[in-house]
Amino acid sequence: MEKKCLACKKSPLDKDTIGINKKLLGKDIKTFYCIDCLANYLDCTVSDLLEKIELFKDEGCELFK
Ligand SMILES: [Zn+2]
Repeated sequence: MEKKCLACKKSPLDKDTIGINKKLLGKDIKTFYCIDCLANYLDCTVSDLLEKIELFKDEGCELFK
């Protein structure tokens, strides 16, 4: 199934976006937000999220491989 943003229906969502959704909202979630809507939902900025993604990648997090 193609992954779409729950809020704005943007698709497809890239691997990093899916990864950060799982990392922040839980591994077993079935619905995902695009990076803009996720930032909105979490009340932070897109660049905060992009920084987090880089951080998790540096840590070797399996969700971003
Ligand atoms: Zn969206």
